[in-house]
Amino acid sequence: MMVAAGVFTACSTTQKEQKNDDFNYVVENFADVQMLRYKVPGFENLSTSQKALIYHLTEAAAAGRDILYDQNCKWNLPVRRTLEAVYENYKGDKNSQEYKNFEEYLKLVWFNNGIHHYNSTDKLQPKFSEAFFAEQVSALDPAAVPAKAGQSVTEFIAEISPVIFNPSVLPVRANQKDGEDLVATSANNYYEGVTQAEAEAFYNKMKDPKDNTPVSYGLNSKLAKVDGQIVEQVWKVGGLYSPAIEKVVAHLDSALAYTENPQQKAVIETLIKYYNTGDLKDFDEYAILWVKDLDSKVDFVNGFTENYGDPLGMKASWESVVNFKNEEATKRTELISANAQWFENHSPVDNRFKKEEVKGVSAKVITLAMLGGDTYPTTPIGINLPNSNWIRRDHGSKSVTIENITEAYDAASQGSGFGEEFIWSDKERDLIKNYGFIADNLHTDLHECLGHGSGKLLPGTDPDALKAYGSPLEEMRADLYALYFMADPKTTELGLLPTADAYQAEYYKYLMNGLMTQLTRIQPGKTIEQAHMRCRAAISQWVLEKGKEDQVVELVQRDGKTFVVVNDYEKMRGLIGQLLAEIQRIKSEGDYEAGKNMIENYGVKVNPELHKEILDRYAKLNLAPWRGFVNPTYTAIYDANGNITDVTVSFNEGYAEQMLRYSKEYNSLPSYN
Ligand code: ZN
Repeated sequence: MMVAAGVFTACSTTQKEQKNDDFNYVVENFADVQMLRYKVPGFENLSTSQKALIYHLTEAAAAGRDILYDQNCKWNLPVRRTLEAVYENYKGDKNSQEYKNFEEYLKLVWFNNGIHHYNSTDKLQPKFSEAFFAEQVSALDPAAVPAKAGQSVTEFIAEISPVIFNPSVLPVRANQKDGEDLVATSANNYYEGVTQAEAEAFYNKMKDPKDNTPVSYGLNSKLAKVDGQIVEQVWKVGGLYSPAIEKVVAHLDSALAYTENPQQKAVIETLIKYYNTGDLKDFDEYAILWVKDLDSKVDFVNGFTENYGDPLGMKASWESVVNFKNEEATKRTELISANAQWFENHSPVDNRFKKEEVKGVSAKVITLAMLGGDTYPTTPIGINLPNSNWIRRDHGSKSVTIENITEAYDAASQGSGFGEEFIWSDKERDLIKNYGFIADNLHTDLHECLGHGSGKLLPGTDPDALKAYGSPLEEMRADLYALYFMADPKTTELGLLPTADAYQAEYYKYLMNGLMTQLTRIQPGKTIEQAHMRCRAAISQWVLEKGKEDQVVELVQRDGKTFVVVNDYEKMRGLIGQLLAEIQRIKSEGDYEAGKNMIENYGVKVNPELHKEILDRYAKLNLAPWRGFVNPTYTAIYDANGNITDVTVSFNEGYAEQMLRYSKEYNSLPSYN
């Protein structure tokens, strides 16, 4: 699971202040996107062997990029390759509006890893014409056109044009509309030729309610109907995506020579084994070894991990994150972990749903070195894995806060005018200026290290009982846990927050985001789809409604503008605790109806008038609601025997430059898989 960054908060200063900082955080802006870059502080202090390990892991992270494109939609690779070929061979006027619109679309396809928006999952609508596209593709060397075998360029254009231009073809990547066939109507490539009922029946048959340690059914395969039979096509060496997975495995294999200790070596070896067998039992073995590897400085995620892209929450998208521990900042999360049992015991949920013994909540602050697959270029700011419920129960989970990313967001947001426009008064602005950054990081720490790992299912509860509502409800649980405990005197007692009112910075920002400013990411007329956004909306709307009588929180008009006003932070905390207890009950009992009502009533709908107002106010600020990151470039220096003697890192690659380089160097899959 992961924590995604909120909308531009733009009003806190980092603890270290930005002075003397001439690092160029902003790479470029296009459409409604801003591309940033992040620093990798401390890389130069790593040992040569650690740098070499990171180098090979970054290569493995890049090598799987094409897998995600194909998972998101089976047309993504041919579309991307066609657009790139046009982009690189274009001979016409680059200042023409048509070309600029074309270029913008290509940049959006890269940003979203395909033709659908990464967050809303709606299809992107190009602003250049179909005629321009046809003309440009026809002018290409036919060898550069990713047509199917035996297909002419003309036939290829006829087949692919509706995929790009017709809004009713493949309109949504992961449809979550209650009552529709979520599988058949989703454009993702996780299922082919099967209905939701067939997919559910297929997996229900596999599940044994008495199995206390079930594998994550369906995690690493496509479910397809072949000759009338429903079969799993497993993503592994020798299976689907084999050419890409073989490359990933080769880089992991090279990394083995530089591992820091036997535990880390076993982690990588077991991952390689799993990539070879595709056996989900091997995946669990790997996940357990990974969660126990706590001594290594360098760490990574590499594989089929998060299931946000599957409306049934079973199939996992490929991603990678390479990182190393930030020792100084980790003291903070270690303190939280050391007190995990105290937090669990004092949580406001029913005792039946509490963990008697919180196991191995390990948390650290990391410095990100590389993003790949589904974390690139839009990255989470916190990650908690593994996702398997029983592994979390029996072995704990590993949780990270990615501080060099929050730092980059914060630095790039200075002076944007956002806080002046949306925050009620100087009182809240000062709170956020003084404590916003530290409170944000603590929220992420608590969400990841404690929130996701807290609580337990009642015996016999199906972990998938909440179906499509499982993801937003799980995010609610983790956010509520974090919000509830941030305000506890324990956090100041432990020195996690400097003052008793510092948590109010997070409370205010959270509500402002959930009730208003995250709407800047929603198109007019649309509802809220993404799990983290549904979570924030549901918590905020619920608190607003339940606190109405006591005027705990209000939406107040001033000069025709709406603001969030929090009148009573303590009562707000009480409501947070109540909601946490209810969400935990829903999860522990697998109460689908209550979970569905919670999300549908509070987390999905948008007030159209308020929405319009927020969009108008936001537009005047000229800010990008979506932000992503260009990776640093790592270069290995070898001696005559082929050993790595050093790895250098540079931060000067452009956005299109990096995307085109990745498409060439990590061109690991055929266009049709
Ligand atoms: Zn989360």
